[in-house]
Amino acid sequence: MSVLVFIETENGLLKKNFSQIASYGVALSKKLGVKCIAIAFNTDDCEKLSEFGITEFTVFNSGHKFFDCLNYVNIICNFLLENHCKILVTSSSADSKYIGPLIANKWDGHYAPNVVEIPSTDKNFVVKQSCYTNKAFSYTEIYKERIVIGVSNNSFMPVKEKSDCKVKFENLKDRIKTIEVLSVDKFTGRKTIADADIVVSGGRGLKGPENWYLIEDLAEVLGAATACSKPISDMGWRTHDEHVGQTGKPVSSKLYIAIGISGAIQHVAGIAKSKVKVVINNDPEAPFFKSADFGIVGDAFDVVPKLIQKLNEFKSSS
Ligand SMILES: Cc1cc2nc3c(=O)[nH]c(=O)nc-3n(C[C@H](O)[C@H](O)[C@H](O)COP(=O)(O)OP(=O)(O)OC[C@H]3O[C@@H](n4cnc5c(N)ncnc54)[C@H](O)[C@@H]3O)c2cc1C
Repeated sequence: MSVLVFIETENGLLKKNFSQIASYGVALSKKLGVKCIAIAFNTDDCEKLSEFGITEFTVFNSGHKFFDCLNYVNIICNFLLENHCKILVTSSSADSKYIGPLIANKWDGHYAPNVVEIPSTDKNFVVKQSCYTNKAFSYTEIYKERIVIGVSNNSFMPVKEKSDCKVKFENLKDRIKTIEVLSVDKFTGRKTIADADIVVSGGRGLKGPENWYLIEDLAEVLGAATACSKPISDMGWRTHDEHVGQTGKPVSSKLYIAIGISGAIQHVAGIAKSKVKVVINNDPEAPFFKSADFGIVGDAFDVVPKLIQKLNEFKSSS
């Protein structure tokens, strides 16, 4: 028996969450006293996994660089059976949430998404999952023998551990063609909220869409993604893919800067997984300050240009 970790790739490289997912798989395999192996598609980026304790890494190459859901599901299911795996570890990305339930169904397993800890195995297999947009946790006892775990973003930190990782390449030229993705047109060239380490977000305090240069300029200097509160996308000042919160996207960035956002519970629910929260608001009583790590009481139209100037000075001097 072994634990299999599904490592996601993008443009031939391992996605940045690979170390968290690999470390989770290794920690779980140690707890169960089994080995941890990994699988990925279409990459030559194979060195890094030996830094995180993986001992076998199989890469299926088709020369086809796009996410290919049904083929991935078929190949991973066959791999799980051939290698007598009982647990598959995936991330909580959109791609993993797509294939996770399909694999569980085909493999006759249980799918547990948003898992935030290594499961307890004292008596039965119990997973702790975040639910209600990170406002609560649930504990689920799993009776199935085969389990697909979706690890919640940023809930398990990478643990460096050198291993002698054997890499094996499999050719996928004979894969069954269910669909063929010919090309992907990205909606925007900007960083997406899901991928960004830093997110700069604006709310109604910015008064109008014509003032969004403040958010964009600050995001540019920080290499950040831009985001907004719900009313901003409802009013059409920004597109809905930037809307953060309970009814929008969750953000699990390293730094979240909220400018002119009051901090309503529905907004804050979406950023619970962000590490450092900075709030810029001209009202010292704004609720957002209660959940902020750093706060600046001031007018965004004064503070943000000064911040951009200081960051530019810092960048050019370093
Ligand atoms: C069912 C439901 C679901 C919802 N889901 C979401 C969600 O997912 N995401 C979300 O964001 N909201 C959501 N909302 C709406 C939420 O309740 C708030 O109404 C919304 O978040 C407020 O947006 P805001 O902070 O941009 O605006 P406001 O509440 O109007 O706050 C603007 C803030 O800007 C400050 N400000 C004003 N001028 C300046 C200035 N010059 N400089 C600095 N600061 C300034 C003000 O002090 C104020 O704090 C939901 C509501 C409901 C009922």
